[in-house]
Amino acid sequence: MSRVAVVTGGNKGIGLAIVKGLCKQFNGTVYLTARDASRGQEAVKELNEQGCQPRFHQLDVSSLDSIHRFKQHLEQEHQGLDVLVNNAGVMYGRSNPTPLVEQVDVTMGINFFGTANLTKVLKPLLRPHARIVNVSSGLCDLSHATPERRQTFRSEQLTEEELVQIMEQFVSDVKSGVHEEKGWEMELLAYRVSKMGVTALSMVLQRQFDATPGADVVVNAVCPGWVKTDMGGASAGRSVEKGAETPLYLALLPPNVSSPRGKFLRDKEILSF
Ligand code: NDP
Repeated sequence: MSRVAVVTGGNKGIGLAIVKGLCKQFNGTVYLTARDASRGQEAVKELNEQGCQPRFHQLDVSSLDSIHRFKQHLEQEHQGLDVLVNNAGVMYGRSNPTPLVEQVDVTMGINFFGTANLTKVLKPLLRPHARIVNVSSGLCDLSHATPERRQTFRSEQLTEEELVQIMEQFVSDVKSGVHEEKGWEMELLAYRVSKMGVTALSMVLQRQFDATPGADVVVNAVCPGWVKTDMGGASAGRSVEKGAETPLYLALLPPNVSSPRGKFLRDKEILSF
């Protein structure tokens, strides 16, 4: 049975570099997914010219319909999944004039709820030794959270339901204009909170997977570093190939690896969260 790897937001930037790396290093079928079919197919064409043969499927992680259509496709064609790289993400820059409520809605909907929903829907397809990589960011740094929240995010008892509820409450607090008095006050608020959620989710999910002995499903969060992409900007010091290195390392972790499992990494090193 052919193994299957999936990358979200694969049409450009770090995601495209991860797809390319998987085409070279992963023994199986690699899916480049993108929310926009024509941008995705263009990217596949570009990779074909470089000797890589990914398959394409439309996937907008902020749409449950799109997620379910993709699940159905994987189920029918492959009956399973071995690698999931949750790379799709957005960030509103510091001077972006978009109202905060909209920034939070869009950013949380893609970065956090997109990652959480896609993973939840695809979970039944995960085969033994599956690897999940959640592309987070160094900006998930909890020093910006209140001490109570820091404790909650780091708690070994935190469940997926509780984490989702905290994230939903955050969105609702912003909508009601009470987020500052609730301790959500930091620059790049939407992006930082979304990535706090993504990193915490990785740890929570690992505990769930560890409850099924022998499954050896491993999930880690990763900061790719500051990478020259549309999001990272032209001044960033890293190439997309360098940014893809640790996500690829985590996607290709060998069977029954003892570490890293449920960790947050940059440059293949475990960081504290
Ligand atoms: P880019 O902006 O270059 O690429 C982002 C990708 O995500 C695009 O393919 C975009 O598609 C896709 N995307 C956005 N929304 C959705 C959606 N709803 N469904 C599916 N795909 C979507 O960013 P990067 O390559 O720099 O970022 C990749 C990841 O790395 C992100 O999660 C980001 O937060 C993280 N990161 C990046 C850093 C950097 O310095 N660049 C630093 C730290 C973390 P489209 O083309 O259609 O917009």
